[in-house]
Amino acid sequence: MDGGAFPETCSTCPYCGVGCGVLLRPDGKGGLAVRGDPTHPANRGRLCSKGSALAETVGLEGRLLAPRVHGRETGWDEALGLVADRFRETIAQHGPDSVGFYVSGQLLTEDYYIANKLMKGFIGSANIDTNSRLCMASTVAGHRRAFGTDTVPGTYEDLEEADLVVLVGSNLAWCHPVLHQRLLAARKARGTKVVVIDPRRTATCDGADMHLALAPGSDVALFNRLLVALYEGGALDKAFLRNTEGFDAALKAAFADDAGVTGLSEAEIEKFCRLWMGTEKVVTVFSQGVNQSSSGSDKVNAILNCHLATGRIGKPGMGPLSVTGQPNAMGGREVGGLANMLACHLDLENPDHRVAVRDFWQAPAMPEAPGLKAVDMFRAAGDGRIKALWIIHTNPAVSMPDADAVRDAIGACAFTVVSDITGATDTARLADVLLPAAGWGEKDGTVTNSDRTISRQRAVLSAPGEARPDWEILAEVGRRMGYGRAFDYATPAEIFREYATLSGIAGRFGRDFDISGLAALSDADYDAMLPTRWPVAAKRQGGRFFGDGDFFHADGKARLLPVAHRAPAAKTAPRFPFRLNTGRVRDQWHTMTRTGLSPRLSAHLAEPFLEIHPDDARAQGIEAADLVTVTSPNGRAILRARITDAVKPGQVFAPMHWTGETAPSARIDALVPPVVDPVSGQPESKASVVAVAPF
Ligand code: SF4
Repeated sequence: MDGGAFPETCSTCPYCGVGCGVLLRPDGKGGLAVRGDPTHPANRGRLCSKGSALAETVGLEGRLLAPRVHGRETGWDEALGLVADRFRETIAQHGPDSVGFYVSGQLLTEDYYIANKLMKGFIGSANIDTNSRLCMASTVAGHRRAFGTDTVPGTYEDLEEADLVVLVGSNLAWCHPVLHQRLLAARKARGTKVVVIDPRRTATCDGADMHLALAPGSDVALFNRLLVALYEGGALDKAFLRNTEGFDAALKAAFADDAGVTGLSEAEIEKFCRLWMGTEKVVTVFSQGVNQSSSGSDKVNAILNCHLATGRIGKPGMGPLSVTGQPNAMGGREVGGLANMLACHLDLENPDHRVAVRDFWQAPAMPEAPGLKAVDMFRAAGDGRIKALWIIHTNPAVSMPDADAVRDAIGACAFTVVSDITGATDTARLADVLLPAAGWGEKDGTVTNSDRTISRQRAVLSAPGEARPDWEILAEVGRRMGYGRAFDYATPAEIFREYATLSGIAGRFGRDFDISGLAALSDADYDAMLPTRWPVAAKRQGGRFFGDGDFFHADGKARLLPVAHRAPAAKTAPRFPFRLNTGRVRDQWHTMTRTGLSPRLSAHLAEPFLEIHPDDARAQGIEAADLVTVTSPNGRAILRARITDAVKPGQVFAPMHWTGETAPSARIDALVPPVVDPVSGQPESKASVVAVAPF
């Protein structure tokens, strides 16, 4: 790397949960050079196409530069005064549960902490939820049921030390590309076997040893069959099972299930079970194909059951590994950004935990029950129960299921505030108050990636116009609402120290998330902080969890759960004969607010499309590249047909990125019904039913 007037600064990529380190060199004119950080443990210098194109996305195009009230530019004083007044008045008239925050895995941990503290500790409601509900909520529920806490047991290194890696509902090659590169490098070096379990043949299947194209939503039945095979094959770890409860019930449920619903042949299932059983070092990676399901939590527990029954957890090269979508989905979970959690993995329903957090915050009011989860929060905005809503760094008018209804609900809400880097999203257009937020490269804080590594994001560019960091905006609203010194922060380092101190209290309750070893960082230490895997506490530092058989339920034991296959909620019928799967493409991110600015990224797949099997295309009279109308009971989209046998007959696939701004009729989540997993509240985004016809 050549030298330059400006030094390089270590930061973290703002896209997926791999959490790659980047080195940023500003050019002094608002631009940047970006390269992979060879010292970061997540990527060791690698970047994928999205990370490599970051420099193309930091210009002023589309940026929101000043606060706006009802479309009129104004100053911070008027905008924040209005926000604080309207929230305070609404709470005074209708109670704390009449307001809500809908936040994002794009927030830095310090921003998230302040939003959570303001809502749960001072407003006194748990009506704060996050777009991580669409991403990881089923994993959180599955982890908590099995382990007692939302703990990721393993690390990325396990992928490289495994002899078998099973990828379930994960197009790792496109959605977590650097992790996939690490897996492929390990495979080359040690001959790792790779099995992909996915209804669709994706780029991840290229070169895999097996692709099990199971019927959508049938993962529980497959892993139940595996549990039976492990039992019948004598592959259980009986010593490890003494650290668990529930095995007999889980096995009974597994015996009662029918692997025939997977649509896989007996030979395929047997081959998979033999491979799993015969390999000690197995890592099961799972992602949105597991989570985004009306039985997502049960899918997670079906996977965890197999790892717990064989003791293949928390040891080098062994264990379940959920890979998160967003850069700080994990940080949001840790900080209590979900409506059913408290900060630092403490439980909202536990009175002792509530009192501990209340006392620490010196909070006037703490909710005793979970708040509204994402789908219910927007329903409540639509029917008038939520009267003031603050949406931060996310675009639910596009990304929520039943997106047309969500768009209408936001429009119907009496008072809506949107903080974002742009005012040009479908959601921002509906706001009463628009607040310009600082973006990636312009703000300081931390994020946590999928293997519990906390990394710094660092500011190297000036925030344009009036844009400010989210923690500052939230804290000022807290002060203006009358909560005074509790929101009197000068720097994100101060917030981080408070958060790390609180985690020490969580540690005293025997919780997993303890970073109290970082509570005394000076501003300079925080500034120089290297990537650090939690826990960071006197008792424990980094590494893996559970290999020693010690779990976080009160009795110290893990739980195996009895789970049974449940078909997706929406049923195909003559009117809606196709099952619609949704997902990402390699070079776009979320609703394209940032990646859409890069011509290079947009060249990969330039427009929204529908993958359809050749037999189905023929039967519908659809030719390659035709425009097709896709209709569900909830909405409609117009897409370009891509005829491919990557999808099975009766199934179609469409990406979820395009918005009303980029392609008016391609808002895919408008087609998705607002059906959720009953345990996690996560929507079923991959199993809608649709009709497809030539446009
Ligand atoms: Fe960024 Fe994820 Fe790509 Fe890494 S793999 S560069 S974190 S998008």
